[in-house]
Amino acid sequence: MRILLVEDEHRISASIKKGLEQERYAVDVAFDGQSGYDLASTEDYDLIILDLMLPVLDGLTVCKKLRNAGFHTPILILTARGQVQDKVIGLNTGADDYLTKPFSFEELLARIRALSRRPKQSLPSTLEFAGLTLDPSSFQVKKNGQKIDLTSREFSLLEYLLKNPQKILTRDQIISHVWNYDSDILPNTVEVYIRNLRRKIGGSLIHTIRGFGYRLGDSR
Ligand code: CA
Repeated sequence: MRILLVEDEHRISASIKKGLEQERYAVDVAFDGQSGYDLASTEDYDLIILDLMLPVLDGLTVCKKLRNAGFHTPILILTARGQVQDKVIGLNTGADDYLTKPFSFEELLARIRALSRRPKQSLPSTLEFAGLTLDPSSFQVKKNGQKIDLTSREFSLLEYLLKNPQKILTRDQIISHVWNYDSDILPNTVEVYIRNLRRKIGGSLIHTIRGFGYRLGDSR
């Protein structure tokens, strides 16, 4: 799968490119809107990750121009918090999804998987535990067949827990997998997210191991 990343902040684009390449995606980078548009309209990509604040041509314009020119490549927009109202992005640009900075890499991957049109057999498999299922490709979580609505951060947190059933995960491990390095993490952030997740998936699956962290498991 080939991805075009249009992001002018070199530090961010380098780290996203590196991370995606480790996940076996092929990644091209453009550092301004015009060269992004040129690449997107001449090369064949499966997905475009598009920052909004870009030199030469801004991301919204790039997105609109591509759609007007008949390109249907899925577009994932990156926005800084408060930069553009959500509904403006949703309604006017033809983008498929957007992600607010700062985001964790896990969160970005989940969105990419949800948007990617990879053949079924190469999709990451559904995670399951005690009646709970999480499908990384469709971004869906179910409890005993009933759909549960999670925020993207809650989804990343649950995905990490489901990948490590019965293991004690420290708060620091959770933070490094679910939050990125410049997120605003308060001392009780993880606790708050765990509490919300318990409320949504049922309280008996996530155990607090006092002084250590959390464990997804049965009541052992
Ligand atoms: Ca930018």
